[in-house]
Amino acid sequence: MNITNDVVWLGFLGSLVAGSMTILGAAGVWFVRQLSESLEDTLLSAAAGVMLAASVFSLLLPGIEHAGSLGHSDSTSVLIVLAGMMLGATLLAVIYRYTPHEYFNSQLPGANPQALKRIWLFVLAITLHNFPEGMAVGVGYARGDIQNGLALTLGIGLQNIPEGLAVAVAVLAAGYTRIFAFLTATASGLIEPLGGLLGATLVSFSLPLLPWVLGGAAGAMLYIISNEIIPQTHSRGHASAATFSLLGGFSIMTYLDIVLG
Ligand SMILES: [Zn+2]
Repeated sequence: MNITNDVVWLGFLGSLVAGSMTILGAAGVWFVRQLSESLEDTLLSAAAGVMLAASVFSLLLPGIEHAGSLGHSDSTSVLIVLAGMMLGATLLAVIYRYTPHEYFNSQLPGANPQALKRIWLFVLAITLHNFPEGMAVGVGYARGDIQNGLALTLGIGLQNIPEGLAVAVAVLAAGYTRIFAFLTATASGLIEPLGGLLGATLVSFSLPLLPWVLGGAAGAMLYIISNEIIPQTHSRGHASAATFSLLGGFSIMTYLDIVLG
């Protein structure tokens, strides 16, 4: 086995572990019948805070550092990673544009609230965003930087717990069985290793691609935070709790990244 293969395997395994932590949250469906709106907004905001810090400390900054090690000037390094970030966000905007989709489970004013449809769109949104998340973890191992990869695995894995719980409880609340709710939430998390495999493979072909892919993975996550999670978690009157919960998630990931990474 050569280094390239090792990095791909590590990236895949790391994203598999992170994705599997969704199962811990999904298992909560046996203990909780319903989440209050404020608890749901708080949990999803904490997940967004983790994703935000992961974007900065585990993707953008390592991307800039790597571009520098390829011989680019500081200015060029930053611009490359930012361009990658814009591309990643644009790609996600295009994907969301052409996917039947709605802001998480927001009530559309005036629209006929079809609870079932809303819940499935929520499940779809969480599932979709797990793909770039997996890519982020997969790419995190790409330079053979295991500590950075571990910090990302742990951080992304942690924020998958509330996400898994939110999905499972939403499906249960729609009237499905507990086992079905559990399996649906688990499936949403297992998209993550697919993203991880793609990210790690892409980068193993070409190291100069790495700053672009790190920037791109950050852009995809930032897009979801700004376009989905923040509007959703601020739409039902829990804006202040959501903000502080986001800062709490941000603090946890910042700590993990600095101490482990
Ligand atoms: Zn997430």
